[in-house]
Amino acid sequence: MSSQPVVDSILSARYLRKGEKDFSDICRRTAAALAENNEEEARFFEAMTSLRFLPNSPTLMNAGTELGQLSACFTLPVPDSIDGIFDAMKQGAIIHKTGGGTGYNFSRLRPEGSPVQSTEGVASGPVSFMRVFNAATEVIKQGGRRRGANMGILNVWHPDILPFITAKTKEGEFANFNISVMVNDRFMDLVSKKQFDTVWLTHPRTGDTVTVGRIWTAIVEGIWKNGEPGILFFDEINRRNPTPQLGEIDTTNPCGEQPLFPYESCVLGSINLAACMRGGVLDERLLEETARMGTRFLDLVIDKNTFPIPQIAEATKRTRKIGLGLMGVHDALLMAGLAYDSPEGRAWCERVMQLVTSAAVKESRELAAKRGPFPSWEGSTWKEFPVRNAAMTTVAPTGTISLLAGCSSGIEPIFSFAYTRKNTVGKTFVIVNPVFRERLLKTLSTMGFGNEELEKKTEEVITHVHEKGTVQDLLWLLTDFRSLCKTALDIGWKDHILMQAALQKHVHASISKTINMPASATRDDCAEALLMAWTLKLKGITIYRTGSREDVVLSLKENV
Ligand code: UDP
Repeated sequence: MSSQPVVDSILSARYLRKGEKDFSDICRRTAAALAENNEEEARFFEAMTSLRFLPNSPTLMNAGTELGQLSACFTLPVPDSIDGIFDAMKQGAIIHKTGGGTGYNFSRLRPEGSPVQSTEGVASGPVSFMRVFNAATEVIKQGGRRRGANMGILNVWHPDILPFITAKTKEGEFANFNISVMVNDRFMDLVSKKQFDTVWLTHPRTGDTVTVGRIWTAIVEGIWKNGEPGILFFDEINRRNPTPQLGEIDTTNPCGEQPLFPYESCVLGSINLAACMRGGVLDERLLEETARMGTRFLDLVIDKNTFPIPQIAEATKRTRKIGLGLMGVHDALLMAGLAYDSPEGRAWCERVMQLVTSAAVKESRELAAKRGPFPSWEGSTWKEFPVRNAAMTTVAPTGTISLLAGCSSGIEPIFSFAYTRKNTVGKTFVIVNPVFRERLLKTLSTMGFGNEELEKKTEEVITHVHEKGTVQDLLWLLTDFRSLCKTALDIGWKDHILMQAALQKHVHASISKTINMPASATRDDCAEALLMAWTLKLKGITIYRTGSREDVVLSLKENV
C-alpha cells in the first residue's frame, strides 16, 4: 500500500543486514532465528511478508545477528546516589545502542537543594540530572540505527514537581525526553472537586507550600502550550498490575504503552488489522489465528533475546510480559465503512481488541501447559489460571513498522489522506491513501459522475485534500462519505479519548495515542480532557494541540 521508494529508503538505512536485499530477506532471517521448527518458521515468514504481523523494530533489525537484542521497551531504576544515577545512565546508553527506549522515574532523587552527607554540599535535584541523561542520549544517537528515546517521570508528590513540569517549555530543551507526571487518585479527586486551594506539599528545603491549583495550572499550561507533560495515572496502572506481589509500578517506557517494573523489558508486535479484512468484512478466524501466532512469536522472543544487562534478563523472565497490539485500525474502519468517531466504530474496535486479547490469553494458557506459567505466577492476579505471560496485549505507536506495512499507525486516526513524502535523495512523492481513493471513486460514481468527469473530480478532491488536509469543507460530496473520511484533526478530542477508552478495556498494558486538539482549543479543554481520561480509567494520556509546538512532528505537506 505504501510508496515503495519510501519503504526502500527505510530498509536500506536501518534494517537490512549485510547480504540482505529486501524486506523478505529480513523476514527470513527473523523467522529462522525464532521458530522452533520448519512449519512454525514458514508461518512466521508468511505472517510478516504478507504484512499481517510485524514485531517491533529491534526484532527485525537484530534477530539472528550477533547483537541479538530484540525488545523496544525498557525501564530502569534511578536510585538516590551518584553511583546509582550514573549506573542508570550507563545502562540506558547500552540499551539505546541496541535500539531500545528507556523509561526512568526520577522521584527517588532527593529534591534540589537537599543536603548531601558525603560532600556536605547540596543535591542538584531530578531535573538537573535529567539534563545529563539527555546529553548522553544525544551522543549515543549519532551513528545509531534508531534514535534513543527516553521517558522521564516525576510523581506529583515530589517536591520538585513544578520545575519538572516546566522543564521542556524552552524550545529544544530535553529533546531526547518525553516527560510525564505520575498523578494519583487523591490528586485527581481534589482537582475534580475544584479544591485548588488545598495545600498539596510543603517543600522540605524552603518550607514553601504548593497548592493543588498551582500544580494543576502548571500541568494544563504546559500541555496547552507545548503538548507536554503527558499524564500517567498511578492508581489505575496499579489496579491493573498483574503481579502486585512484586510491588507497585511507577514507570513506563518512552511512549507510555508499557507500565513496567525497574529493569523489566517488553517486546512488542502488532497485527495489521487492515490485512485481516476481506471485502470490507473482518475475517475473525484469521485475526484470531494471527493473534495466537503473534503471542507464540513474542513469547519465543523472550527466550531468544540477548538482554543487554543481567538484571534485565532476570526481571523480564520473572513476568514474561509481551506486547501484542494492533495497527491499521483506521484503515480497517474505512474498509468496514465505519466512522472512527461513531459509537458503532468504537464498538467494532472494542470487539476486535477483545478478540485479540482472548486469543492471546488462550495461546498463553496453552504455552503454560507445555512450558509452565511465568515464574511469578503464584500470587499474581492470574493465580487461578496458569498463563505463560503476565501481560499480553498493548497498543504501540508502530511508528516505523506501520510504514513498512503501509497501514495507519496503531489505533491513530489517519492524519491526512494525501500527503508528500521525501525519499533519501530528496525526491518527493504524493501518497494517497488507497482505501480513501477507493471510497472516493465509489461515492463519485453513486453521485452519477461518468468516466471522464469521474477522473477529473477524483483529482480535484485529492488535490484539495493534499492542500487543506480535509474533505469536511467539500459540501457537495455525500454526507456519508464526509462523515466516514475524517482525519485526526477532523475528529473531536472527546472522540479521540472515547476510542482510547473503548480499547483500554481489553488491553492488559497501556495504549500509545495522541489526543489531537484544534489550535483553537482552550486551557479548559485540556483540563477537561485530563479529567475525562481519569474518569474513563485510562492509564495515561498525551494531548497535542495543533501548532502549539514549533517542531511539529507531522505536518500535512511534508512528512519525511
Ligand atoms: N522506540 C525507541 N526509539 C524510537 C522509536 C521507538 O526507543 O525511535 C521505543 C519506544 O519505547 C517505543 C517503542 O520503541 O515506545 C515502540 O515504538 P514504535 O511502535 O514506534 O516502534 P516500531 O517497532 O514501529 O519501530
